Amino acid sequence: MDRRIIGIETEYGIAHSHPGARSITPEEIARYLFKPVVEWGRSSNVFLTNGARLYLDVGSHPEYATAECDDLLSLIAQDLAGESIMRDLVKRGEELMHADGIQGSIYLFKNNSDSAGNSFGCHENYMIPRKLEFSRLSELMIPFLVTRQLICGAGKVNVAGEYFGYNFSQRADHVWEGVSSATTRSRPIINTRDEPHADAEKYRRMHVIVGDSSMSQTTQLVKVGATDLVLRLIESGAILGDLKLENPIRSIREISRDLTGQQVVRLASGRTMTALEIQRFFLNAVTAFVEKNGAHHDHVSRVLEIWGRALDAIETQNFSLIDRDIDWAIKKRLIDSYMAKNGVELNSSRVAQLDLTYHDISLERGLFHVMERRGAATQVVDPQSIEEAKTVAPQTTRAKIRGEFMKVARASGRDVTADWLHLKVNDAQGATVVLKDPFETENAAATELIDALR
Ligand code: ATP
Ligand code: MG
Ligand code: MG
Repeated sequence: MDRRIIGIETEYGIAHSHPGARSITPEEIARYLFKPVVEWGRSSNVFLTNGARLYLDVGSHPEYATAECDDLLSLIAQDLAGESIMRDLVKRGEELMHADGIQGSIYLFKNNSDSAGNSFGCHENYMIPRKLEFSRLSELMIPFLVTRQLICGAGKVNVAGEYFGYNFSQRADHVWEGVSSATTRSRPIINTRDEPHADAEKYRRMHVIVGDSSMSQTTQLVKVGATDLVLRLIESGAILGDLKLENPIRSIREISRDLTGQQVVRLASGRTMTALEIQRFFLNAVTAFVEKNGAHHDHVSRVLEIWGRALDAIETQNFSLIDRDIDWAIKKRLIDSYMAKNGVELNSSRVAQLDLTYHDISLERGLFHVMERRGAATQVVDPQSIEEAKTVAPQTTRAKIRGEFMKVARASGRDVTADWLHLKVNDAQGATVVLKDPFETENAAATELIDALR
C-alpha cells in the first residue's frame, strides 16, 4: 500500500466568560453552538459537504473528524478547516445566546485538558493492511508513541503536583493503558476497537489516542508524517529489535516531565535507553529505509528534517532551533519571555492563562494565532487551501463521493444520512450505497443515487 488513508479527530474544550452576567453550563453552550447544525442537519451528528463529520460527543466537547485524506497537506488543511468551522459556530452561537439575553463570549480551545483535570482527545486514524500482525505492530509502535511527545507535544505548565515544571505533553498524564478497546475510561495509547470503516478483510484502522492536538502546522506535519513513516517501516517487515517497554504508562509521564530528553526508559528486556535514544533509533531506521526505498510522498524530506532538528534541539538544549515549529517549544518561548519581562514564576495565574490562551481558536485572542500572524510560527499550507477545505472534500479518496452526496442533498433539501461507509436517502425506499474502498473516487451506484437527488 503506497498511499495511506489518514484522518484526524479533534475534540475542543469549551468555556463561557460572563463579566457580570450569569454563567451557563458547557451543555448549554454546546446547545447554542450546534443549534444551526441541528436546524439543517436534523441532528448534532452530521457529515459535511467536505466529507468531514461534525458532532457533539459526550461531555459536551464539540468534535470534528476530518474526511479521509491520503496526503499530509490535505490532512492539515482539512483539520484547520474544522477549526475554522468551529469559529463560525462560535460566532453564530454567541449571536443566538445574546438574543436570548445571555451575555458574554464563547471560547473553544484546541487543547487536551481543562482546569478541572478532565482530558479530551485528538485521535489519529491510520489505515493499515489486515494482514499485519496487530500485536507485533503495537509492540513496535508503543515505544515510538511514548517518546513521540519530544517531537510533537503541545506543552503543558504542570505546577499542581510534586512535579513542578514545563512538560512536553498534555495527554501523557491522562493515558492509563498500552493497548485496549476503551477510549474514555481507561484511555490507552492505541485503541484496539476493530472498526476499520473499510473492507474488513483487507484493512484495519490503527486508532492512536495518545497524541496532543496540534496548533502548529509543522507540528501536525511531523506528528502524522513520522508516525506514517514508522508504520511503513513496520509494514515492510523490518527487524527492529526488541524495544518493548517495561512500563509504558510510567515512562510516558516521566518522559513528559524531562525536557532534557535524558529520562531513562527501562525496556522489558532489562536494557535501558533514554527517550532521546529511542527517538534517534526510529529516526535512523526510517532514514535508512527511505534511502533504500525512496520517498513515498513529496513531504518525506521535510518530515525527516523537522524530526531530526527537534531531536537536535533537545540534545543541545537549544530550543530556538524549533521554537517556530513545534508547539511545546513555541509556547515555551512565549511563556519564558513573559515570565522574564514581568518577573513572575511558572505557577503564576497569568502563566496558566497563557498556557490556555495559546490554544484559544479565536484569531483575535488565541496566542498561537497571534504569533502565527506575526510570522513567529512556520506555515505549511496556504490560507486559500484551508478556506477551500471547508466546503470541498479531498478529491483522491471516497470523501469526494460523500462530499458530493451531502452537497446535492443540502441543495435539494432531501433528508439523507451518511457515515464513513454509507450513503443513505431517508425516504420510503431508503436507498443505500456502501463505499467499502476508501480509495474509491468514482462509484456507479453512488452516482445514480446522487443524480436521483438532483
Ligand atoms: P468515535 O470517535 O465516535 O468513537 P470513531 O473512532 O470511528 O468513533 P470518528 O469520529 O467517526 O471516529 O472519526 C473517524 C476518523 O477515521 C475520521 O477522521 C476518518 O477520516 C477516519 N477514517 C475513516 N475511514 C478510515 C479508514 N478506513 N482508515 C483510517 N481512517 C479512517
Ligand atoms: Mg470521534
Ligand atoms: Mg475516535
